[in-house]
Amino acid sequence: MKVVVVGTGYVGLVTGVVLSYIGHTVTCIDIDTAKVEQLKSGKSPIYEPGLEELMAICFESRRLEFSPDYGCVKTADVIFITVGTPSLPGGNVDLSYIKSAATEIGRNLDGDRFQAVINKSTVPVGSGNWVEMLVSQGIQNGAKVAVTVAGGHALSGNGTRSVANKHNFAVVSNPEFLREGSAVYDSFFPDRIVIGTNDKQAQEMMRDLYAPLLDQSFTLPAFLCVNEDRAGAVPLLITDVASAEMIKYAANSFLATKISFANEIASICESVGADVTEVMRGVGLDRRIGMSFLNAGVGWGGSCFGKDLSALVATAEEYLLSPTMLSAARQVNMAQRRVAIKKLQSALKIIKGRTIGLLGLAFKPNTDDVRDAPSLDIAQHLIALGAMVKAYDPVAEESCRRARPDLEINYCPSVEEVASDCDALVIVTEWEEFRSLKLSKLRELMRTPVIIDGRNILDATAAREEGFEYHGIGKC
Ligand code: NAD
Repeated sequence: MKVVVVGTGYVGLVTGVVLSYIGHTVTCIDIDTAKVEQLKSGKSPIYEPGLEELMAICFESRRLEFSPDYGCVKTADVIFITVGTPSLPGGNVDLSYIKSAATEIGRNLDGDRFQAVINKSTVPVGSGNWVEMLVSQGIQNGAKVAVTVAGGHALSGNGTRSVANKHNFAVVSNPEFLREGSAVYDSFFPDRIVIGTNDKQAQEMMRDLYAPLLDQSFTLPAFLCVNEDRAGAVPLLITDVASAEMIKYAANSFLATKISFANEIASICESVGADVTEVMRGVGLDRRIGMSFLNAGVGWGGSCFGKDLSALVATAEEYLLSPTMLSAARQVNMAQRRVAIKKLQSALKIIKGRTIGLLGLAFKPNTDDVRDAPSLDIAQHLIALGAMVKAYDPVAEESCRRARPDLEINYCPSVEEVASDCDALVIVTEWEEFRSLKLSKLRELMRTPVIIDGRNILDATAAREEGFEYHGIGKC
């Protein structure tokens, strides 16, 4: 199939490359021309394990192109929208990128044959209808055709087509569940594929598009290993548009709530002298609950949880509902980001004039994404309290500098340089290399041997035996 992907961020780029790899001819469009040039040269603007290797394979097969131009939409069978949907200050979603993408797609649709416009961006419930309207307006503005949209009403362009020629395009919701840091893997081995449309032709098209993933018949790239639990066909869930849009918000809200739950339990554990790691292991071994997303720490972050929770709260409030549990999950998370500061205050008493080292800036390991990362909040707070902040992250330094040029962080090239003359280290991101820190060496380098393990990844006893004052989250 001919596929166009509009927006080459974490979702669009990975989606485009994986669809190309499984046999489709893909053009990825982005309005950021510098990004397009970089992609044309085979370099990924984001850090995502396996992505550049996969891009190289797709370039060789000549099934992958990048362009700033929407002209390729005309010959496409399916057009994905994967542009950003950031939060507005009040929690509502900024849909301006969706609006311009949908309108441009409309201007460039063929009109003579059926095409599917797939919304993969996370958008509030009801956006499917709105995108349909925008695409239709784009068609009208392009003055190309008269078209009847799927399930909708006839729209007149310049009258070159009869209104009897229906269903020239349909809008499909196809939410994305990939995790940054394992996005390539997740795209090959999704837990499920959700398709939201009542249009039968679009449903068939989506089945064909995803067939190699649904029946897992693709040849695995040499650099990827399959976890045993991922074997077997992938479930396909076909729903109406609103339900598909809602599934994405509900899933992210549940995951964020699960972490906030673990963090709330962690605070109680600290007070009563229990160990949250042991508690959550005991809880998660219950198959009805599961082990994942029960790690206590300095809180969740990233481009999705915060904005998706806020958007769902805003939608609920539009309908005069009070989503108490969702609001509480956000509240717990904001409080959790202060826990590291409180622990530093308790250990060092005075923060002013201290040097604090942050280990990790990315909101989670294996990504360079710092959007809504707890590290930014913690650094900002410490600087405001008069501390000097040093930081090391294996890949996220550049994106942090770009995202927050205002933050006066002293970026270091290694853990050792962060530790040097430091009064305390805070583990903010659970990068693999931080699990095996050379504690005796760090102890020698530091001014005061304090470690706040914001992700509970170190062995507390070993750290204390090396002479550290060690504080985890939710444990004594
Ligand atoms: P991103 O900000 O990394 O990338 C968006 C890209 O779209 C940018 O490269 C931008 O230049 C481009 N763009 C903006 N307007 C455009 C236009 N009119 N035409 C062409 N290109 C345009 O965003 P992302 O993290 O990939 O997220 C995209 C969507 O997917 C969001 O709705 C997000 O909520 C959702 N999502 C993200 C993740 C994730 O882990 N990042 C996971 C699931 C879903």
